[in-house]
Amino acid sequence: MTTTYVFPAPQMAALAVAGSEARFPVRRVYCVGRNYAGHAREMGSDPDREPPFFFCKPGDAQAVVPVAPGETAELPFPPATANFHFECELVLAIGKGGANIAVAEAASHIYGYAVGLDMTRRDLQGQMKDAGRPWEVGKAFDYSAPVGLLHPAASVPGVESAAISLQVDGVTKQDSHITHLIWSASETIANLSTLFALQPGDLIFTGTPEGVGAVQRGQTLLARIEGLSELSVRYV
Ligand code: MN
Repeated sequence: MTTTYVFPAPQMAALAVAGSEARFPVRRVYCVGRNYAGHAREMGSDPDREPPFFFCKPGDAQAVVPVAPGETAELPFPPATANFHFECELVLAIGKGGANIAVAEAASHIYGYAVGLDMTRRDLQGQMKDAGRPWEVGKAFDYSAPVGLLHPAASVPGVESAAISLQVDGVTKQDSHITHLIWSASETIANLSTLFALQPGDLIFTGTPEGVGAVQRGQTLLARIEGLSELSVRYV
């Protein structure tokens, strides 16, 4: 029997995949905090003594925005912030689930990679941090997770040593390498999977390098990771 709903069921977010007509359906979005030493320092933390920690964004189609290569997506500037920050990140797309995944096995759980933006209402996040409260209002709002084209892992073997950068209106603000991750992709998957059973469709935002900052309404963000399709977004 077909299930009927009292209103149309919400649409699932799904990412376009390079070289395929099929899309990658998104389940959950996990994010790693302070995973580059330079960014940990600019946020006032000691990068050497902290194990990885995680927060989540919604996986729904209002939060996760697939952006096609060559397109500049125009998205609504979010409400309630005067300090709207970009964070350019390598996104892991999980294709095989599991709990307590060993570091040595973790790569086999990665379906592919994409460039993502962990957009942040920094003022609201700061207020929540100061009050010891959850980060959702700073992190988990609509249009907070634009993601570029997903590239199957086998097609981008060098991505974990690639350059990562972000420009605002053509001016470089973030410029680093994925090798500067404190916790590598495999270590992150292993650690995260001790806390949550990962499932196909999960995305992991692996953290941002130093250089985060505010973006103004109408400015264009261009996020790049060598070997992956670039991601261009404008909040208006
Ligand atoms: Mn982040």
